[in-house]
Amino acid sequence: MHRKTILQARDDLKNKKYSACELLEAIYNRIDSVEEKVRSYIHLSKELALEQAKEADARLASGDDAPLLGIPIALKDLICTKGSRTTCGSKILDNFVSPYDATVVKKLKEAGAVIIGKTNMDEFAMGSTTESSAYYPTANPWDLSRTPGGSSGGSAAAVAANECIAALGSDTGGSIRQPASFCGVTGLKPTYGRVSRFGLVAFASSFDQIGPVTKTVADAAYLSGIICGNDPMDSTSANVSVPDFMAGLEKNVKGLKVGLPKEYFSSGVDPEVLENVQNSIKALEKLGIEPVEIELPHTQYAVATYYILACAEASANLSRFDGVKYGFRSESSGDLNKMYTNTRQEGFGDEVKRRIILGAFALSSGYYDAYYIKGQKVRTLIKKDFDQAFEKCDFIAGPNSPVPAFKLNEKLNDPLQMYLSDIFTLSVNLAGLPGMSIPCGFTSQNLPVGLQLIGRPFDEETILNIGNQFQKETDFHKKFPNL
Ligand code: GLN
Repeated sequence: MHRKTILQARDDLKNKKYSACELLEAIYNRIDSVEEKVRSYIHLSKELALEQAKEADARLASGDDAPLLGIPIALKDLICTKGSRTTCGSKILDNFVSPYDATVVKKLKEAGAVIIGKTNMDEFAMGSTTESSAYYPTANPWDLSRTPGGSSGGSAAAVAANECIAALGSDTGGSIRQPASFCGVTGLKPTYGRVSRFGLVAFASSFDQIGPVTKTVADAAYLSGIICGNDPMDSTSANVSVPDFMAGLEKNVKGLKVGLPKEYFSSGVDPEVLENVQNSIKALEKLGIEPVEIELPHTQYAVATYYILACAEASANLSRFDGVKYGFRSESSGDLNKMYTNTRQEGFGDEVKRRIILGAFALSSGYYDAYYIKGQKVRTLIKKDFDQAFEKCDFIAGPNSPVPAFKLNEKLNDPLQMYLSDIFTLSVNLAGLPGMSIPCGFTSQNLPVGLQLIGRPFDEETILNIGNQFQKETDFHKKFPNL
């Protein structure tokens, strides 16, 4: 049962092959048997989940047809869930219980989903390995000595290890797509503004988006149909109608043009990653898709631009954690100032502190124009690269990450190397575009490789359509790690 996709489980529940309570039990049994090795979760909400599953069974019996009725879903632990903890992977929020549900959680609950627990992540989503979590690192289910990627590493590992049917993650600079590619699952970052950020704890507010992490593209489309849409509670949420993503999956893709950015197929990419990505482009050609070479000339500035702007926004967003309003407060307080300082000193980890310092520096008078304003200008140039590229193609394809999953601890003490590994995902957030990772092959060491598909703003439909047609012709997404 734990191996089911959302769509399969939904059919089975409707056909009474098993009940929502039985499905939930199967998932928790699976968690019991593999979690010691993988550590995808920070905490589980067994009692609440059981109540939700019982209610789902009652609703199923009465013929209710809500779209996620009885489906066990995991959430990255920076999405607020009323009455249960939301730690953001940080000591500073260790004891924080959300007073309200994020809009996405409200939508999932209305759709009948069963929320099984909150997944591990880099502290405040800052990282690419899940190692900056204040709790423990998560392991990659395909090779336990390696990272699942990050920052939504817990969500990707939980889906890959079949510890949930599907999950939500968040993506500020690649945090859904890169772990999805490292763990061999599907991950979609929707267009900025497509999904409400209300109740998503902010890291860099002009970049952050919530999105699905699933076993198939069809499941990602299905879940997107539920979580996307305008929300008056989030002023950056876009008032754009949401298409029927499920209907869009079966459109004819023949004649569409795929843009191949020459900067994404450069010598810095691991040869095995490149080979798998190139083979999958050939598979797209077999579907009648025409490749065209494109240029994204400002790609080389993406890492610097992202890390200046995201850190600047983070330094402002994280000033709210002061020991007064939320979570942890240092025991060793003296006067008010000492209380603030000690709380932040003890409550935040090294990576978060590094970013607050970098961001405050970029925003400080004297440096504001040289770093922050310059960064904003380059962001516009990066966006324009994509506008020009999309005059020649309908979507863009390339690798998600220049390398497959690296070893735990490999880059932990070398932040610059860690940042550089984000090179292919950051531009998509800088430009606010939709991007998706789908499994496209394995290296000789049996590590998954992901293909990144990038769409025009608010055109998730095309990349979901392409991804679904690709998954009809390939079976990389049907492989499970041997745990
Ligand atoms: N790895 C990037 C960073 O460390 C992206 C993180 C994210 O998307 N949340 O900022």
